[in-house]
Amino acid sequence: MRFADLLVLSRMGVHTREDAVTAGSVGTGQPSLPRLETPRMTDSLVLAKLDAGPEIFHSLQGEGASVGTPSVFVRLSRCNLHCVWCDTDYTWNFAGTSFSHDKDADPAYRKPVRAEVQVTLSDEEIAREILRHGCDNVIFTGGEPLLQQPGIARVMTLLRTAMPEVRFEIETNGTQMPAAELEALRPRYNVSPKLGNAGMRADQCLIPAPLAFFAACDRATFKFVCAAGSDLDEIRGIVDTHRLPRQRVLLMPEATSREELEQRRPWLFEVCRQTGFRYSDRLHVAIFGSRRGV
Ligand code: SF4
Repeated sequence: MRFADLLVLSRMGVHTREDAVTAGSVGTGQPSLPRLETPRMTDSLVLAKLDAGPEIFHSLQGEGASVGTPSVFVRLSRCNLHCVWCDTDYTWNFAGTSFSHDKDADPAYRKPVRAEVQVTLSDEEIAREILRHGCDNVIFTGGEPLLQQPGIARVMTLLRTAMPEVRFEIETNGTQMPAAELEALRPRYNVSPKLGNAGMRADQCLIPAPLAFFAACDRATFKFVCAAGSDLDEIRGIVDTHRLPRQRVLLMPEATSREELEQRRPWLFEVCRQTGFRYSDRLHVAIFGSRRGV
């Protein structure tokens, strides 16, 4: 089926549950998953805006288990958390909100106006923009992509129909349970639970049910951002409490600039060597610093 035909069918509503079910099967031995509502034809996704268009770009995965993989990134707007060091705070820290952020220390810093950093696109527009890059690994990132998982599942279904070999990764803070329709498409999950250094309460960041789901899912890996030695005790506590498989836990230095990364790399490298956790570097910070869309 040509993608043009697929788009016609999708506008007629022929791209929902059946396609998702034929694309794969829901795993067993995991907590039962909620069902998504059947999407309406007006459904759409809210993405971060980069320059005049959506933040969809072709690059290499820069972190975690699939580092180095050529990928198309799709950055969703909105997040349910508000980490003080967040490097994508333009997805949630809008003018008029009361959230704190490290940037507040700069007297010249102004929060962005929501309408200037968000763009809403239809499922078909997003699928078409992704397919334009001809890349078979697609990463939904954010913000927190799972806040918009019905739309992500629909876009993934369009892509899988047009490109059966396509693989998906979803970057998540681990507080949201994936729904059955999303799971049917067998994405990999890059789960990044937040520590106290993010500036929020543990009961906001560490939700037992989704963490139990991801711990039982062998397509999930866990990334922890580490800034100091005190983070390690907290990570060990989370790994033990939520029974996260140690071989799927990666530690990554907190850094939004090359200088910070260079400062923390040797320390965390040594921590991983001594503790047995995996190390993840941050290619984008190392190569591009804090530049967006690369
Ligand atoms: S969970 Fe991720 S996107 Fe959300 S505020 Fe924290 S770092 Fe930013």
